[in-house]
Amino acid sequence: MSEGPVVGHQWAVELLQNSIRCDTLRHAYLFVGAAQVGKSTLARSFAQTLLCTGAADGRACGSCRSCRLLRAATHPDFFLLPPTDRDGRPDRENGIHRAEQAGDIIRQALLHPVEGRYKVFLIQDAHKANASFANKLLKTLEEPPAHVVLCLTAQDRSALLPTIVSRCQVLALRPLGEQAVEDALRTRWEASPQQAALLARLSNGRLGWAVQQLKEEEPLADRNQRLTELRELSRSSRVARLAFAQKLAAARSQTPLFPLLALWTGWWRDVMLAQSDCLDQCANVDLLDELAAAARDFRRTEVQAYLRTLSRIEGYLHHTVNTGLALDVLLLQMPRPLV
Ligand SMILES: [Zn+2]
Repeated sequence: MSEGPVVGHQWAVELLQNSIRCDTLRHAYLFVGAAQVGKSTLARSFAQTLLCTGAADGRACGSCRSCRLLRAATHPDFFLLPPTDRDGRPDRENGIHRAEQAGDIIRQALLHPVEGRYKVFLIQDAHKANASFANKLLKTLEEPPAHVVLCLTAQDRSALLPTIVSRCQVLALRPLGEQAVEDALRTRWEASPQQAALLARLSNGRLGWAVQQLKEEEPLADRNQRLTELRELSRSSRVARLAFAQKLAAARSQTPLFPLLALWTGWWRDVMLAQSDCLDQCANVDLLDELAAAARDFRRTEVQAYLRTLSRIEGYLHHTVNTGLALDVLLLQMPRPLV
């Protein structure tokens, strides 16, 4: 594998290294795990090693023409879908899986590699692809040309067609330990000790998320704003809550719902912990005063009931029927402070 920024996931790194070293490559790999846990980073590192012309012992050299092209995102045998902008964010215009993009993959897969032995396709967030994309992709997976290696990433394998999953070597990546995230932030991304400790605690083992926060002009600005908004909502009228639910439903392409639900769940879980005299276990360690106040202001039974509601609504939204209705319930059932 490359000397790139893969942190942790040692068993997966070794499995991929061995498959290169022992020439037991599969045609398709599926990297499964939480958002920003390191799926694409690992897949890119694997691609770099496959394409590297100076690779030794399952590791990319980092300096050959192929390694340089890959780093510059101009390697003719590496295809990334959906396309991303220079900061690695999905391209707004083209950042969706369209059937014609799957058609491009099929056409490109048939052509011989330009630089070396392989062509590598990295299809990110394959769980978001529609049926027509998935069916076309399946065609490539059924009879892949010998030089093709497909890497798919997905948050949840159950969201993919079973026929796709069964053709892939599945690598399920687990969140990293808090200490591993903290160490990586300090040594590789030069975060200050305080910043590294806070981001590691909040990251839930998702290093990519923590690194993204570091790159922001004001790290955690969005999270702080969202938590302030949440505290205000708990004191708002029914009308204001319903208006917020409607705004959220209308803007859900810009404000993804699941990260927001995870943030809210984390907050209310911390309130519950604070109510159980476990303030030291809280994730939002920079907001302990606010959590201690919330622990006094809300009824414990209501907080616990709301955590169950959050989990139930998240389940609904995964198979959604009516997003608007689910969000109305989510907002109306939020606990109200006693004073
Ligand atoms: Zn190389």
